[in-house]
Amino acid sequence: MIQNPLDILDKYFGYSAFREGQQRVIDQVLQGDDSLCVMPTGGGKSVCYQVPALAMDGTVLVISPLISLMKDQVDALHQLGIPAAYINSTLSSEEYFGTMDNALEGKYKLLYVAPERLDSESFLNQLQKMTIPLIAIDEAHCISQWGHDFRPSYRNIHRIFDYLNNRPIILALTATATPEVQDDICQQLHIPPVSRVVTGFERSNLIFSVVKAQNRDQFVKEYTRKNKNEAGIIYAATRKAVEQVYLLLEKNGIPVAKYHAGLPDYERQQQQDRFIMEDARVMVATNAFGMGIDKSNIRYVIHYQMPKNMESYYQEAGRAGRDGLDSDCYLLFSSQDVLTQRFLIEQSPDPSRVSNEIKKMQVMVDYCHTEGCLQKHIIKYFGEDDVEDCGRCGNCTDTREQFDVTVDTQKVLSCVIRMGQRFGKTMVAQVLTGSRNKKLKELNFDELSTYGLMKGRNAKDVADFIEFLISKNYLQVESGPYPTIFVSEDGKDVLLGKVKVWRKGEMVTTVVAKDDP
Ligand code: ADP
Repeated sequence: MIQNPLDILDKYFGYSAFREGQQRVIDQVLQGDDSLCVMPTGGGKSVCYQVPALAMDGTVLVISPLISLMKDQVDALHQLGIPAAYINSTLSSEEYFGTMDNALEGKYKLLYVAPERLDSESFLNQLQKMTIPLIAIDEAHCISQWGHDFRPSYRNIHRIFDYLNNRPIILALTATATPEVQDDICQQLHIPPVSRVVTGFERSNLIFSVVKAQNRDQFVKEYTRKNKNEAGIIYAATRKAVEQVYLLLEKNGIPVAKYHAGLPDYERQQQQDRFIMEDARVMVATNAFGMGIDKSNIRYVIHYQMPKNMESYYQEAGRAGRDGLDSDCYLLFSSQDVLTQRFLIEQSPDPSRVSNEIKKMQVMVDYCHTEGCLQKHIIKYFGEDDVEDCGRCGNCTDTREQFDVTVDTQKVLSCVIRMGQRFGKTMVAQVLTGSRNKKLKELNFDELSTYGLMKGRNAKDVADFIEFLISKNYLQVESGPYPTIFVSEDGKDVLLGKVKVWRKGEMVTTVVAKDDP
């Protein structure tokens, strides 16, 4: 009964062409290959299993943890004339049995279920009586402990196979999986690595910039004033910071709304409505804001502080420019942010996740210090290869002169080695600047030949320079409760004088209005 997928796309969804990646995933599924599809939110993952569902006999089982979105998805399918249903804890027992009866009669093309359902023996027994050609596993990163949203029930997915007579094809889908998490998903679901399709992470209308060592309040004040007719979101890491930025902008006469988990439900709703209805142009919020917000004309997203990982950053910044028009994504960075995020991560109720979270945070710190293309840095992180420089971001358009910092680099690297490669950047910076800290004396670091080699320099600037060397991969971080740094193979080449290191001078970002020519 397999029909041409493009005809199905046109007939049911009204689209004339597949997007990048969709065609390949659908071809793989229809050939019977298990696959992993990694595409950003809004990239069009649903079509990758909905089109095959219409081309295959039987009912496609969709496993999704997003109970609140299941009804919307099923309603949308009904609108398109596609028979579908969902089973989750919101159904009454009458509704559940009614749905199951229909499912057993093969009335649905798609059946959405929450992963917890797979813990139930009786449900799995019912599946045995159905024809299931394909299992689509949405939010597949939940299967991995290395992902940012591990769900133990996802580990039971493989149990389905013990109950089914014919093994269905597996299609795992996610928007946020690092190459490490992708490997883990493939391994656990026995998906061959060649069947991985990673695409669509580039957003060619987003202009990324990192602003360092500048007064953040001044920046947001000036930016919102110059762009007062544009809608934008300012994300801050804590409720306190949200309140502070909110007051700052309000005092400056900017129509502003705020959103964080500390506000009562009705007020959150009210503030959100003000932003959607454009009564307030600017929304200042914690990461609690944004899920399910469908506002396409957001012209800028400013992160007032560094977020905790790249997954969160790209999701939040990606709320800008949904309408395809050029939009700004600024990240305002201060080294204090690293301490704030570390503190928040260490409050995690699950201590076993702390070192993984800190490793993920380091990727954000590298992003803030890289002098390479920012968009490329992000896309590569999500595992897409063959990426070109974007030519638009703050780094690609940066024309500052470069300075040869090879000698300074050699000083830092040799100091790291002399200290036994067992300490963090703050301590290394203290040794280099000749700090009188008692601990250094106890460890006899004041006797090292590199002690005070950068005397007269500010320890904070040296620590910043070390971050730059980490982002360039001359130094690497061994994460743990106390992250330590060590010299990489690339770093050894610098010590041997085989390569030179260049750095650009201090950057000052000037704020311009988005509608300036
Ligand atoms: P995801 O699940 O990856 O977040 P969706 O599947 O919800 O994304 O798709 C996002 C939007 O893109 C939807 O409105 C969908 O209808 C639309 N879309 C998907 N595929 C295509 C296509 N080939 N052409 C045009 N629009 C598409």
